[in-house]
Amino acid sequence: MEEALILDIQRMSTEDGPGLRTTVFFKGCNLNCGWCHNPESISKKPEVNWYSAKCIGCNICLSVCGQGGIYKNEGLKFKRHLCLSCGKCEKECPNAAIEMKGKKYDTAKLLKELVKDRAYFGRDGGVTLSGGEVMMQPAAAAELVKGLKAEGVGTAVDTAGCYDFKILEEILPYTDIILYDIKIFDNDLHKKFTGVENKRILENYIKLKEKNARVWVRTPIIENATDGAENIQKIGEFLAAAGLPEKWELCAFNNLCRDKYERLDREWEYKNAERTKKEHIEALTEIAKKYVPSAIYSGMLKEK
Ligand code: SF4
Ligand code: SF4
Repeated sequence: MEEALILDIQRMSTEDGPGLRTTVFFKGCNLNCGWCHNPESISKKPEVNWYSAKCIGCNICLSVCGQGGIYKNEGLKFKRHLCLSCGKCEKECPNAAIEMKGKKYDTAKLLKELVKDRAYFGRDGGVTLSGGEVMMQPAAAAELVKGLKAEGVGTAVDTAGCYDFKILEEILPYTDIILYDIKIFDNDLHKKFTGVENKRILENYIKLKEKNARVWVRTPIIENATDGAENIQKIGEFLAAAGLPEKWELCAFNNLCRDKYERLDREWEYKNAERTKKEHIEALTEIAKKYVPSAIYSGMLKEK
């Protein structure tokens, strides 16, 4: 039996694979994309979130934290490097203004919970394991997809693919569809914007296609990072040569997650960035379609 560090479980999702799905967000990521929409998923340990609107200023959290992890400076601030993720501040806060993001789940119990959602999955839906990076917790991920398959539940894994292919290979027989991120084709730019090189990511895509895996590719469209015509063209050329995905989705940017950065007390360089313009993503999708006819775009757009 494995333990998994889980950030969240979202039901009735329509954005994480085919049909209606339950999405399980694993905590911990080996990339560090500046535009990340789930910043609380990056750290590999449970993290304190502070909801300023609920805080009544009683200072109880400061007194229960024996680590000096919390201090006041125009509201609460956290010294996260000192935090042991003990959860005392969450437990003692009288107004639920503190929440620990990231809870440990026994995979057998989690499996039982997920199977209960079967009623709304229908023919195409199922469970998607997402993140963070699911495959940073490979044993837990494998146990979940095996268990779900044994129960006849559809499975999808959403991954950035930056690890040894053996880890992915292990789950392939139990995974109906891989949602695979290819963000930037140029290796130097990939490293600049995500913190890692993309050689393994591209190699692992080729291996997935050699194994005849069912794959949807996703590319976030981020201004001045991934949204150049050349980037889309290069990714398109790569996909055409390596083997077409069933679908290639260009995902528009929005900054609706900026509150998440505030709750983590983190500055976000994209907090005032605008939504992707409709005409721009349409033009990029036309380029993508030259290589992958099934290319589409998704997300909330700026009309003009
Ligand atoms: S989780 Fe524990 S160590 Fe971290 S800030 Fe709260 S009380 Fe302090
Ligand atoms: S214990 Fe809760 S309500 Fe009191 S100061 Fe801390 S966060 Fe605010």
